[in-house]
Amino acid sequence: AEPSENLMEVINTRLPKKIQGLLWLIGQKAQKEGFKVYAVGGFVRDLLLGVPNHDIDIVVEQDAISFARKIVKYLGGQIKEYQKFGTATITLKDGMKIDFATARMEFYPFPAAMPEVEETTIKHDLYRRDFTINTLAFRLNSDKFGDFLDFFEGSKDLEQGSIKVLYNLSFVEDPTRIFRAFRFESRYSFHMDDSTMGFLLNALENNVMQKLSGTRIFEEFQAIVLEPNPSVILIRALELGVLDNIFGKCSNPQQLKQNFKHTMDSIVCLKEKGILEKKDFILVYLLVIINSYPKKVFEIILKDFNLDKGSRIIIRNFFDVGLERIEKLKSNKHLDPSEIYDSLNGLSVHSLCAMMAIADNDLLKNRIFLYLEELHKVDVEITGNDLKEMGIKPGPVYSKIISRLRQQKLNGEIHTKDDELNYIKSLDLKERGR
Ligand code: ATP
Repeated sequence: AEPSENLMEVINTRLPKKIQGLLWLIGQKAQKEGFKVYAVGGFVRDLLLGVPNHDIDIVVEQDAISFARKIVKYLGGQIKEYQKFGTATITLKDGMKIDFATARMEFYPFPAAMPEVEETTIKHDLYRRDFTINTLAFRLNSDKFGDFLDFFEGSKDLEQGSIKVLYNLSFVEDPTRIFRAFRFESRYSFHMDDSTMGFLLNALENNVMQKLSGTRIFEEFQAIVLEPNPSVILIRALELGVLDNIFGKCSNPQQLKQNFKHTMDSIVCLKEKGILEKKDFILVYLLVIINSYPKKVFEIILKDFNLDKGSRIIIRNFFDVGLERIEKLKSNKHLDPSEIYDSLNGLSVHSLCAMMAIADNDLLKNRIFLYLEELHKVDVEITGNDLKEMGIKPGPVYSKIISRLRQQKLNGEIHTKDDELNYIKSLDLKERGR
């Protein structure tokens, strides 16, 4: 699209009818109530790229919260207001979300005079964004619905696939933009332009990642692992020194790079089998990262990353027991199914996935698949009640008997409940606890 163009046709041809109607209604309301409102950011970027994106981001000159209140009265749904930030989110009855933000004019270094006084406010708001491709906007007010705003050559960069910051110190001001740049590069096959890359390297020389809290870094990692190819992004972060800037010196970057590649294969494979979900990816990647960094990174991640208790237990467990099981599971020595079971039982799916990525060994992979698909489902049929009826005194011996039974069952020695009962009868009296 060209600046000064109107996007009506793109809007009408590319957006679902429901969203078109919504935008139009918002524009009419804005016109009637005397607000100036714009669709902005990722929504407009993806509209022009032809990529579906139903997160509508709206900037309101004047007050976004009072405008959002009018909209929610008009359309129904739920509103959440964030007074501190001057923003509001409406969730419509069908679950769709619309974000409203008040246009912000801040003290950012702003070059050159701006002739179009009328557009000063929205222009300032767009200038404080991360990359030119995210500065695109169009008007929603019904008198100028669809009028395209492109102050910083964003549409040219979009066409050229170029990721460009708006000012030199952008990455210093907000280092999370470094991860955002990598995400957009990988998601759209775009590239940072040379000067943006220069600013990034310069920011890293000044150790900007150190400014970020563990929580912020964790949030960025979470966004990364939800992209279509997280490994490519993390390899880029490793190669440019971003990970070292956060965690210290990587023990073997070449190895970690390979591990990232194998992590991708492993998560895809386990996801296809229905064993791993997207929300699990983050932990797998954290395990793989921690494994290649100094011991203190383990502590840092456990302490500063704002992880829930379950995740912290999984991480500890992986480094306490999971990691050392790798050698046994990839060795050519024969292992009975029950030995494979005992080596893997108690480890989370994240740990198993990380083991597959770190070991990159077919024998180990096959053993993990055997465990996940068959062995871990093997259960004994008799219950404590059955044992009681057989006259065995309740006590620790019960769990001993059950695990002996499971072992027999895993190794295919016994199959049915009758087999189990007979097996118990065959145990000598001492073992049965009489
Ligand atoms: P995604 O498709 O990943 O959601 P998005 O561009 O829609 O990407 P959001 O994180 O939803 O990203 O942010 C919405 C908009 O807010 C962006 O398009 C960008 O203009 C702006 N923005 C987000 N994060 C930053 C940041 N760290 N610095 C500056 N602007 C940002």
